[in-house]
Amino acid sequence: MHEWALAEGVISTILTVAKKKDAKEITEAEIKIGCLQQIDENIFTTAFRELVKHTPLEKTKIKLKNEEAYFKCRTCELEWNLTNTTNALGREESEAIHFIPELAHTFIRCPRCGSPDFAVTRGRGIWVEHIKILK
Ligand SMILES: [Zn+2]
Repeated sequence: MHEWALAEGVISTILTVAKKKDAKEITEAEIKIGCLQQIDENIFTTAFRELVKHTPLEKTKIKLKNEEAYFKCRTCELEWNLTNTTNALGREESEAIHFIPELAHTFIRCPRCGSPDFAVTRGRGIWVEHIKILK
């Protein structure tokens, strides 16, 4: 259940930032999830709500937002995103990429030079984008 571990990490990040800023209350937290991050948002939300019981985050609203994936070709340096790529793929393949990011390298090619050698520059991981606090 890695959603629980992710939720724990997010919570400790929020608490650290809130403490640094001397927050009396944390009203809202916006959390970004890269679209290549494998996560069940429902489980994540449940884990979050469960883990913040009896903490200063008990009443904090959370907003989950997705970040699109971006790739950078190591051969010609072109940067592109998953939307462009999946348009060129069949539906079945793009679904597979969404659920199994490791497959990305099997299917995705640079749209300009056709190279399979690229780096994922955005769209991975989960992080706290910003928090709203009361002082
Ligand atoms: Zn290229």
